Amino acid sequence: MAIAIRRHSHSRNGHGAPSGAEIAPVALDHEELAVRRGERSGLYCVVAVHSTVLGPALGGLRIWHYADQSDALRDAMRLAAGMTLKAAAAGLALGGGKGVICAPADGFDGAGRRAALRDFGDLVESLDGSYITAEDVGTTPEDLLVVRERTAHITGLPPSRGGSGDPSPFTAIGVEAAIRACAHQRWGDHSLAGRRVCVVGLGHVGAPLTRRLADAGCDLIVADIDPAKRRLSAELGASWSEPEEAMLAECDVLVPCALGGVINDGNVDRLSCGVICGSANNQLAHDALAGELAEREILYAPDFIANAGGLIHVFMEVEGYSEERAVALAKGIEDTLGRVFSVASQLGITPLDAARELADRRLRAAAG
Ligand code: NAD
Repeated sequence: MAIAIRRHSHSRNGHGAPSGAEIAPVALDHEELAVRRGERSGLYCVVAVHSTVLGPALGGLRIWHYADQSDALRDAMRLAAGMTLKAAAAGLALGGGKGVICAPADGFDGAGRRAALRDFGDLVESLDGSYITAEDVGTTPEDLLVVRERTAHITGLPPSRGGSGDPSPFTAIGVEAAIRACAHQRWGDHSLAGRRVCVVGLGHVGAPLTRRLADAGCDLIVADIDPAKRRLSAELGASWSEPEEAMLAECDVLVPCALGGVINDGNVDRLSCGVICGSANNQLAHDALAGELAEREILYAPDFIANAGGLIHVFMEVEGYSEERAVALAKGIEDTLGRVFSVASQLGITPLDAARELADRRLRAAAG
């Protein structure tokens, strides 16, 4: 049994931004919201299609336990709106969507998980390609292979199964491009040679990014909660720091590549960097911090612009994959962010608001 709410006119962008934690109220300005209790698993599956103005609505599948199942709808709606914003700001022919499976409080056994994934695949298939699913919090490449049994509308499969594999190296290419745009805006030169750069989080994105920054001649400080990452630090001749100190390090560029919410009311007054530009989603604990950073003359690169390289990579899978083109598009984030800074200067607004304005302009133009 499915509940489907469908809007026939294309929706405008809502400014949701994924945070993954609390679930705030969210506007219903979505094209479609599909909710189905899976016939195999008995679990609720949700797909929110926020916008297909620019292309099919792409967004990952989140498997999560919600204390109140209606929170799953709000989460999917909020995350889908965030994907519309991200794809539009990145200049991609993609819309925004998101999928959710409401996991049981006590977890799944293997058969239960498989049943839920197949149920979700059926729901995706019923939307005729207006939504394309992918990996997200709580899902693995193996999960996607099960969803793939029921729908072709899926991206991010392992290369051995016809997919394009891990997007993280492309996210790293895009963040480096974004840092160059920031350096140009702040210091009039996009070269990073000799810049003191502090990377917090040396994971799938942070590690390849740090290697690229080392190649670019940066003077590196690095931090991670995992002491095993000291090896990379030593290999690259970087200075190792503990994460909390690293956030406050005196540097040209602070590069958050771990968690969201790392710029907050508790540390915004104590930051000693000229630029903040990293891959972490939702770096600002709340939007008003963008204004505080601007007042303190710290240039902030909106995270959904800086970290769009991974989405670009997945988009290439939808379009017909070419690694060369994926790299070129990820490097194009330097120009995209340059435009964001120009609009911010022209309109006297923060880069965060300018990025939203750019996305809105694209959506308005496409909607006609
Ligand atoms: P990851 O899990 O591979 O790496 C995260 C790293 O951060 C790990 O090494 C972990 O030990 C470290 N870490 C965790 N908490 C920390 C803390 N408090 N201080 C310092 N280090 C800490 O994740 P990832 O794929 O590299 O993604 C990093 C961030 O970028 C996430 O916010 C993710 O949502 C975002 N992002 C990733 C991609 C992608 O392509 N992987 C794309 C867009 C956005």
